[in-house]
Amino acid sequence: MVKKNILDYSYEKLIEEFKKINLQKFRVDQVLDWIFKKHVFDFYEMTNLSKEMRKQLDDYFYIYIPEPVDIQRSKKDKTTKFLWKLEDGRTIESVLLFYPNRVSACISSQVGCALKCKFCSTGASGFERDLSTGEIIAQVLAIEKLENVNINNIVLMGMGEPLLNYDNVIKAIRNWNNKKMKNLGARHITISTAGIADKIEELADFELDIRLSISLHAVSNYQRDQIMPINSKYPIEQVLQAAKIYQQKTKNRVTIEYIAIKGFNDTEEDAIKLAEILKGLKVMVNIIPVNPNPAGFERPSKKFLTNFVKKLKENGIEATLRIEKGTDIDAACGQLKMRKKGINLK
Ligand code: SAH
Repeated sequence: MVKKNILDYSYEKLIEEFKKINLQKFRVDQVLDWIFKKHVFDFYEMTNLSKEMRKQLDDYFYIYIPEPVDIQRSKKDKTTKFLWKLEDGRTIESVLLFYPNRVSACISSQVGCALKCKFCSTGASGFERDLSTGEIIAQVLAIEKLENVNINNIVLMGMGEPLLNYDNVIKAIRNWNNKKMKNLGARHITISTAGIADKIEELADFELDIRLSISLHAVSNYQRDQIMPINSKYPIEQVLQAAKIYQQKTKNRVTIEYIAIKGFNDTEEDAIKLAEILKGLKVMVNIIPVNPNPAGFERPSKKFLTNFVKKLKENGIEATLRIEKGTDIDAACGQLKMRKKGINLK
């Protein structure tokens, strides 16, 4: 019999699975407590179960945790980046970030990405496959165990487009939220999307109150088309309309990510236009100076960046210049994997 990865299951489904091997519901709770609270990933170490039960569980299930093949630690701010090897040998990455009030993990949802955004290293390497629910969840467990931390904030901002792996991502979020599993409040979980409009609308009806972040990066379709091919399928108006629906249904402020690229989208006019297209939407804009990337885009000067933020604010839009973390360890997505492959970025 092929063993099943226990991390792929919802709580309710696990109760059913346990029933099939004659284990009661409270045994599910015990096993989940070992996995999520104590970070024990071997059934034989679960000492409040009889030896017979441990064997039974080990015959039926396995607990899939990826192996680190590379770990980079920032000397500046403790940001740590992990490159994980999956069962099929493919690799993904996650980043651990420390803030004054939270310990955050940036998690991958796919191996590679199909969207081919020009500024993104993951896009440059192409799409390989979706991650399973278990593989998404396991990234957090692996970091917590290795680093001895309790992650209390999760952002799906690593490799991949989470809304193109919708079902597995939603299942992972439900499990993180479940009291018997990670028990993390949904408002501490963020999905970042390049703007899959129909899925944003679907997400608006999701029962959990998660946060949404949209990677806009441009103020017009003309501009966005040049850096994000997905814009031809979901143009700006459609993305912002979906964001509006999301915002009205959930009452949550949406975050807009805006990568500032020198000589491309960083002028005062761009800032004013951005404020204009966001009018009527309750948003927070994060301005992120572009990180090293395969297209060779450069960062605007500090003066341009602060002026951009100032103009947004003057035009009624809340905005911040994103605090940078881990710049000394290539914390932008896809970069660790690229370096491992021997591809050098500018
Ligand atoms: N596909 C999703 C989530 C993964 S990308 C999305 O597009 O949101 C996570 C974030 O990193 C996105 O906002 C993306 O635009 C940004 N990003 C990618 N490459 C970058 C770079 N070189 N510099 C700065 N941000 C980058």
